[in-house]
Amino acid sequence: MTYKIIKNGCIVTPTHQYNADILIKGEKIKAIGDNLERNRPGVEMVDATGLYVLPGAVDEHTHMSMPSPGTHSMPWETETVAAAVGGTTTIVDFAIQEKGQTLLEAIHTWQTKAHNNTAIDYSLHVAITDLNDAVIDEIPLAVKKGVSTFKLFMAYKDDKMVDDATLYRVLKKSKEVGGLVMVHAENGDVISVLQNEYMESGKTEPIYHAVTRPIEIEAEATRRAIALAKITEAPIFVVHVSGEESAEEIRKARLNGQAVYGETCPHYLFLDESYLQLPDFEGAKYVCSPPLRDKYHQETLWKAINAGTLQAIGTDHCSFNYHEQKYRGINDFTKIPNGGNGIENWVQMLYSFGVKKGKISFEQLVELISANPAKFMGLYPQKGTITIGSDADIVLFDPDIKQTIKAETQLQASDYNFYEGFDIEGSPRHVFLRGELIVKDRKYIGNLQQGRFIKAEPYGAAYDSITTDDRGVI
Ligand SMILES: [Zn+2]
Repeated sequence: MTYKIIKNGCIVTPTHQYNADILIKGEKIKAIGDNLERNRPGVEMVDATGLYVLPGAVDEHTHMSMPSPGTHSMPWETETVAAAVGGTTTIVDFAIQEKGQTLLEAIHTWQTKAHNNTAIDYSLHVAITDLNDAVIDEIPLAVKKGVSTFKLFMAYKDDKMVDDATLYRVLKKSKEVGGLVMVHAENGDVISVLQNEYMESGKTEPIYHAVTRPIEIEAEATRRAIALAKITEAPIFVVHVSGEESAEEIRKARLNGQAVYGETCPHYLFLDESYLQLPDFEGAKYVCSPPLRDKYHQETLWKAINAGTLQAIGTDHCSFNYHEQKYRGINDFTKIPNGGNGIENWVQMLYSFGVKKGKISFEQLVELISANPAKFMGLYPQKGTITIGSDADIVLFDPDIKQTIKAETQLQASDYNFYEGFDIEGSPRHVFLRGELIVKDRKYIGNLQQGRFIKAEPYGAAYDSITTDDRGVI
């Protein structure tokens, strides 16, 4: 068993910062304190003088290897390396059920893609797109496999969208077994009508992607999902909240004592609708759903974070190429694949333009990107915290590094970067994954066999009551 000591750093937790050393034994944090090298001659020392010591970020919202036309622009092997260098040590990716597939097949497909092909640890959600009685019966099995979060799309009609009956049934069943339902809340039926109206009148440019998905479309679906969660008494997690009206629905429900939680993404905090109006089809780079909003909403999201209405930040990393894939929508905004990137730079962006601008504290940042996501996704305290017994997933963060973000120099596979030209200050310098140094001086030095599947625990005591002996994962 190897021992390492991280010395002289300042540890940042969700509640405070303090100077202490960390003893790592094998993959775990064994002790936190002073003079830990006493009686341990020859132990490997890592000097963290002048650096902050953070738990590795847990990005609970990624889409690796999403099936897409053309070149694979988001393969596990590049995107998880980009994630590691950016300070993320665990992702929770979405296994998507294809029509006619079982949930376990979808999970297996995703595990196969990731197996021996990921620089960092991962866990999975499963997105239910095709519900029947057999799929309902699989929900407890998925939980036993370590997949306890279920995603439902209320948007993308004729593709991944589910109806309200499906949402109701999945909420009810997952509640029985300690699962958590996550919703993409947008009214897909009405979006589809609006899209047709605009296309028929010759309005084909990227900006109409935002025009046909006004905030009311999102707020209405958020309200509806929350109402169904209330009837079933199930908790619900609303992903990528993009503006004031949706956050307000969550705030009201929480005030009434309902277990409703919300996530937003860095792009809603740092980018706005004007990017969709960039000339020469550049706007297509910024097509994602829900769409980027008017600048006003950025301030309302920071307020919602500070009020505790939104408790987590995830990237929604779904990184298409501009030239090959986004260009499919050159004459029709509805054909532009939805998604952007962020996993390489999100920690830097949130530190530079969140913490350093006084929008949130450093402690809050750790809570929003590590502790809370790990808790929601059933990974805490193995992940998301610097605590004795936790995995030694540790980022040594250098507040003095300066960099201009450029697609040219990025590790992400895509041909553009959401945050092109942003000047950041502060960056991860070294990263440990379960005790192994995988990023040294901002260079990835690990290998793709190191990342592991991490089983998520369901909430409550429900787990013990699930009766199946099927526990195998690859
Ligand atoms: Zn997503």
